[in-house]
Amino acid sequence: MKKILVTGGAGFIGSHLCEKLLEQGNEVVCADNFFTGSKENVMHLMDNPYFEVVRHDIIKSLLVEVDEIYNFACPASPVHYQYNAIKTIKTNVLGTTNMLGLAKRLKAKFLQASTSEVYGDPKEHPQKETYWGNVNPIGIRSCYDEGKRVAETLTIDYHRQNGLKIKIIRIFNTYGPRMAVNDGRVVSNFIVQALNNQDITVYGDGSQTRSFCYVSDLVDGAVKMMNSEDTFIGPVNLGNPVETPIIEFAEKIIKMTGSRSKIAYKPLPKDDPIQRKPDINLAKENLGWKPSVELESGLIKTIEYFEKKLKNGKIEV
Ligand code: NAD
Ligand code: UDP
Repeated sequence: MKKILVTGGAGFIGSHLCEKLLEQGNEVVCADNFFTGSKENVMHLMDNPYFEVVRHDIIKSLLVEVDEIYNFACPASPVHYQYNAIKTIKTNVLGTTNMLGLAKRLKAKFLQASTSEVYGDPKEHPQKETYWGNVNPIGIRSCYDEGKRVAETLTIDYHRQNGLKIKIIRIFNTYGPRMAVNDGRVVSNFIVQALNNQDITVYGDGSQTRSFCYVSDLVDGAVKMMNSEDTFIGPVNLGNPVETPIIEFAEKIIKMTGSRSKIAYKPLPKDDPIQRKPDINLAKENLGWKPSVELESGLIKTIEYFEKKLKNGKIEV
C-alpha cells in the first residue's frame, strides 16, 4: 500500500483522483484550502479509514510522510484564478516549491498538474509537447499561464538539480460531475444556464474551439503517468483530441437538455485562446493511454449531476 498526497484533492479533478487512488488500495491524504473545492466533493470518501482530509494552503509548508505527491492545488477556472491573481501566482510558485521540497525530503515521486494554457494562444495546431507556446506575460490570464509555466520549470529543475523523480502532465479542458455550479468554465456555465432556461452566454462569436476530456479518462491518464517508467518524465499532453467550436457546444447542450434557452453573445475575454486541441501521440506511445469516453456520453453524466444539484432550488451562474 502506497501513501499518496493529493493537493487540491477536494477540487473537481482532485476528488476523482482521490477516489481512484483509494479504489486501487492506496492510503490517500487530501490537502486543500477549499478555495474552489469543497468538503462535499470528498464527503463520500470520509468513512474510508485510509482517507484523510487536511485543511491546508500549499503556500505554507506541509509536514506529512508520503510516497507520492500529485500537485493539483490551483484554481483552474479563469473567473477564480483571476479573482486573486497574486494568490494564484503564489500557489503555483511558492506552493509548488513547498511541495517539491517535501518530495525532496521524502524522496517521493512528484507529479505536477500543468495545463494546455502553457501553450497560450497557440500558433501551432494541434499542440505538441515540443511547442513552446505563445503566452502574454502581462495579460489577465498570465497569473495562471506563467504561474503554471514556472511550476513546470521548478519541477524540472528539482529533477536536474536534486535527482527528484518527477512527472509533468499538461491537462486540456476536462469536465464532468463535481465541477462547481459557480465554476465559471464553459461546460458548467452552459449546462446550468440550459437547465434554468436562461440565456447561454457565448463569448465572442463562438468560433473559438476547445477539446473536452471526460474526467475519468483524465484521471486514468494521470495515474498511468505517475506509474510509468522513471525515465519518462514528460511533459505529456492529456486530453481528448475531438475539437468543438464553442457555438456548436452551446447548441449541443441546448439540444441535450431540451432547453428553451437562447444564445446571448457576450464580449470575448482578453487573450482567450482561439483554438486548442491536444496532440496525444506521446501519451499513446509511452502510456498506452487514449480517452475512451465520447463527448455525448460524458455530457449525459455531467448534465445528470447538475440536474440533481439544481433540484433543490434555482441556482444561477
Ligand atoms: P478546481 O478549482 O476544482 O480544483 C482546485 C483545487 O485546489 C480546489 O479544491 C481548491 O480549493 C484547491 N486549491 C487552490 N489553491 C490552493 C492552495 N493554495 N492550497 C491548497 N489548495 C488549493 O479545479 P480542477 O479543474 O479540479 O483543476 C485541478 C488542477 O488541474 C489544477 O492545478 C488545474 O490548474 C489543473 N488543470 C485543470 C484543467 C481542467 O480543465 N479542469 C485543465 C488544465 C489544468
Ligand atoms: N466561454 C463562453 N461562455 C461562458 C464561459 C466560457 O463562451 O460562459 C468560452 C470562453 O471564452 C472560452 C471557452 O468557452 O473560449 C472555454 O472557456 P473556459 O473558461 O471553460 O476555459 P479556458 O479553456 O478558456 O480556460
